[in-house]
Amino acid sequence: MNGRFLRQIVLPQVGAEGQRRLARKRVLVAGCGALGTHTAEALLRAGVRHLVLVDRDLVEEHNLHRVSLFGPADVGRPKAEAAAERLRALDPEAQIEAHVVHFDGPLAEELVPTVDLVVDGLDNLETRYVVNDACVKHEKPWVYTAVLATYGLTMAIWPERGPCLRCLFPNPPAPGSIPTCAEAGILGPVPKALAALQAGLALRLLLRGPEAPLGTLLYLDLWELRVQTVEVKRNPACPTCVGHDFAFLREGSRVVFLCGDVLQILPKGKAVLDLGDLAARLSALGRVELRHGVLFAELEGTALTVFADGRALVKGVKDPQRAQALYDQYIAR
Ligand SMILES: [Zn+2]
Repeated sequence: MNGRFLRQIVLPQVGAEGQRRLARKRVLVAGCGALGTHTAEALLRAGVRHLVLVDRDLVEEHNLHRVSLFGPADVGRPKAEAAAERLRALDPEAQIEAHVVHFDGPLAEELVPTVDLVVDGLDNLETRYVVNDACVKHEKPWVYTAVLATYGLTMAIWPERGPCLRCLFPNPPAPGSIPTCAEAGILGPVPKALAALQAGLALRLLLRGPEAPLGTLLYLDLWELRVQTVEVKRNPACPTCVGHDFAFLREGSRVVFLCGDVLQILPKGKAVLDLGDLAARLSALGRVELRHGVLFAELEGTALTVFADGRALVKGVKDPQRAQALYDQYIAR
């Protein structure tokens, strides 16, 4: 053990043995926006040496006001890869995996059993239900955290030992009923504050197991300087942690509405696209560019972003059927 962690080893809550235990732990970071990258950085600096990063998106200029791992040179790069590169520079001995894919049921089933804990860097509740299902099914602890505008929420979850996300929110909200950060905005320091709370809870779960304050939902508003905690009870009728019905792990719709007027189309099953070949085919039809392993095309008044795993983001179309038709016509059937 080098001197890097001396000040943390002094803590009776950690100690030399605890620090060695942290170095062996493997944590999945679901989503690499502001919340996910700040949490990943805090865990890495605290001595968690194995991180699995998952994010489907690219760094955009409007992310930079709240993410300290990314700079202007990262705009246009996959978030998971840009974050992994910065984290490796912070601790060259750490093992950082980057997955540029959509976090869906099959991926959760593949990755969650391989880690000790999952932390939340997601921007939608739908995918959090996928994480919750996978963590309950595979008996892995996770930390739920969400941010919006000037506030955020966080709660540690240990399946069977305390309430799960579905005990807290039994039913998914109707599409469009919860504002996104594209609509409601986000104050720059809010994700970092909630990421610090999330990382603290994650370290406690990793070091102490299910004795951590399970079932305490913490609310923090940075603008009003308001902190509240609410005790959440296990729901005896919870379909997930009591009924063991993991509905969110089964395949959902191939079209997903994302933050900021973007539709995402998923391929049928697992796909690997030859983007060079696709670029050559589409270049006769519109403006096409291949950058950082991602294809950008402007076709029929829409902007398409295509990833090698077959996913596409469609901007400029509001109708999901039209977006699906464009995908089928130009990208893959
Ligand atoms: Zn539950």
